[in-house]
Amino acid sequence: MKKTVKTIRIDVDKCNGCRACEMICSAFHAAEKYGTTNPGRARIRVIREPLRDIYVPVFAGDYSPAECAGRDIYIIDGKEYEECAFCRASCPSRDVFKEPDSGLPLKCDMCEDDPPQEEPLCVQWCLNDALIYEVREEEVEEDVKLDEMEIGLESMVDKYGLQKVLDAVARMSEKG
Ligand code: SF4
Ligand code: SF4
Repeated sequence: MKKTVKTIRIDVDKCNGCRACEMICSAFHAAEKYGTTNPGRARIRVIREPLRDIYVPVFAGDYSPAECAGRDIYIIDGKEYEECAFCRASCPSRDVFKEPDSGLPLKCDMCEDDPPQEEPLCVQWCLNDALIYEVREEEVEEDVKLDEMEIGLESMVDKYGLQKVLDAVARMSEKG
C-alpha cells in the first residue's frame, strides 16, 4: 500500500529566529481560530540564543510517557546545544509541546485540520525559506500503521486517564 509522506525540511542556516512560524501555528490552532497568538500552543518551537547566533526550529512529534535515561549534548560548528534541544517529543522532563491549559501533548498536524491547508502555514509564513515543504510516496504495511496508533493511544490513556483523553476527543469533534 502506498502512503503519502509529508515532510518539512529545515534549513537551519536560513533561520533568523523571527518566530513567525510559532505565531501563525498558535493562531491557527487557537480555540477561536486566529483569535490569539501564544507560542505555548505552537507545534513548532524555535530554539533562540541570539548571543550565540543559534536559531533552530523544532517540530512537535509524538508523545513520550517517560523521560530518556540518557541525554545527548551536541556540538556543531563549535556551538554547544543543550540536552533535549532537538527532541520532538512532548515528555515529562520539560514544558515544551504541552497545551498550556490542559497539559495535553501537542503534535504537528501539518495544518491538515479545520480546514486543511494546501501547504503548512509555518512554511508559508517563513519569509527566509528556512522551512521547505516536501511530499513523496512511500510503500507501507497497513498493520504497522494500526499498531503504532494503538501504542500511542495506550500511552496517552496511561498518562492522562481515559476520561481526559475522551474529553479531548469530544472537544476536537465539536470543533470539526
Ligand atoms: S505544519 Fe502547521 S501544525 Fe505543524 S508546526 Fe507548522 S503551522 Fe504548526
Ligand atoms: S519563520 Fe522561519 S526564519 Fe522565522 S523563526 Fe520560523 S523557521 Fe526561523
